Amino acid sequence: MKYPLLALFLLAAPSEDFPTSAGAARITPIQHASFLLEAGGKALYVDPAMGDYAGRPKADYILITDIHGDHLAPQIIDQIKQPATAMMGPQAVADKLAGVSVISNGEKKALGPFQVEAIPMYNLKRGPEPGKFFHDKGRGNGYVVTYGGKRFYISGDTEAIPEMKALKNIDVAFVCMNLPYTMTPEEAAEAVRAFHPAIVYPYHYRGSDTGAFAKALAGTGIEVRVRDWYAK
Ligand code: ZN
Repeated sequence: MKYPLLALFLLAAPSEDFPTSAGAARITPIQHASFLLEAGGKALYVDPAMGDYAGRPKADYILITDIHGDHLAPQIIDQIKQPATAMMGPQAVADKLAGVSVISNGEKKALGPFQVEAIPMYNLKRGPEPGKFFHDKGRGNGYVVTYGGKRFYISGDTEAIPEMKALKNIDVAFVCMNLPYTMTPEEAAEAVRAFHPAIVYPYHYRGSDTGAFAKALAGTGIEVRVRDWYAK
């Protein structure tokens, strides 16, 4: 009798649906920064680099933010890719993986039924040593993905940059937080407060206090959805 209960715990991050003008869009957290967006019968993977892909749909589209191993994993891409899969990412990713069409900070391109806008992602102050950054401006992309009028923001690995704070009309945001690579929950909350999405998911948060993030946004009207992105 214990097993059904255990199964519930193991499904800590189930899929969630969002209504759009073109039918439902479904988000499935996979792990860390990896998730699946399904809409219009198409499967778009974002940074499929961590977690388990057995039993998941093959990719119609793959969107990649950066070159680090928790975002770009060619061996996982090989598992989910099919001949017609279209992949998009920044030049630095295209340099490491064949078949990636390049989108640069500020550009807008179509990826099948999804409209993709590349948003900068970078460190303002944190790096491996003084004068260096973990994420140099211009190398990686965050994204705003629009489907059926719904706007999904994916921060990528970034600090609380002005380009994030200036975002408008975001319905659902995925915002990173982890030290030393990106930012604290409090810094993330400050940025989120500025662009005021309707819903925000902390993601890419290993080792961070998501409760502090939620607390910092209490009373703002922004719905914080804390999910277990590290469930096995
Ligand atoms: Zn990362």
